[in-house]
Amino acid sequence: MSNIIAIVGRPNVGKSTLFNRLTESRKAIVDDMSGVTRDRHYGVGEWTDRQFTVIDTGGYVANSEDVYEAAIREQVMIAIEEASVLVFMVDVTTGITDLDDDIAQVLRRSNKPVFVCANKVDNTALYNEIHTFYGFGLGEVYPLSSMTGSGTGELLDEIVKNF
Ligand code: GDP
Ligand code: MG
Repeated sequence: MSNIIAIVGRPNVGKSTLFNRLTESRKAIVDDMSGVTRDRHYGVGEWTDRQFTVIDTGGYVANSEDVYEAAIREQVMIAIEEASVLVFMVDVTTGITDLDDDIAQVLRRSNKPVFVCANKVDNTALYNEIHTFYGFGLGEVYPLSSMTGSGTGELLDEIVKNF
């Protein structure tokens, strides 16, 4: 399938907030699938006349740190399979965590375009903190505030070039 954006990242970085923003005013297709795809949400978005599907990954249910990490890795693997473009979301207020590094490692092995998004850049002072995420070796880092919507236009301009 084409024109599918999957948002991946550890919990609490703001994936669902971005998903809601990209699919706002659209009727979200909420698909409660069973098994490993549990809690994956599918929605429809549009930018400059181009339509796309957005997948929000998340909702990890696990009772130990190991299971939790494995569940996240599994979600990333499925996203790599399903999506044409991956949005790797990180949080500028926390910097890089071990889980971020794990996810980045999986993404570096994929042959899909990856857009590193530094979320929660709510003000210009935080903009100076995004340089750390170039350390993933995944190319350009896009500052975002999913809460205010700032940066999403610039991100989508680049993403739709792949569609
Ligand atoms: P998810 O677990 O990755 O899906 O993250 P959520 O979308 O549920 O967001 C986790 C928390 O971060 C919530 O309290 C959001 O309101 C908050 N959040 C999301 N985006 C932003 C942002 O751009 N700036 C700030 N300051 N908080 C945000
Ligand atoms: Mg979420």
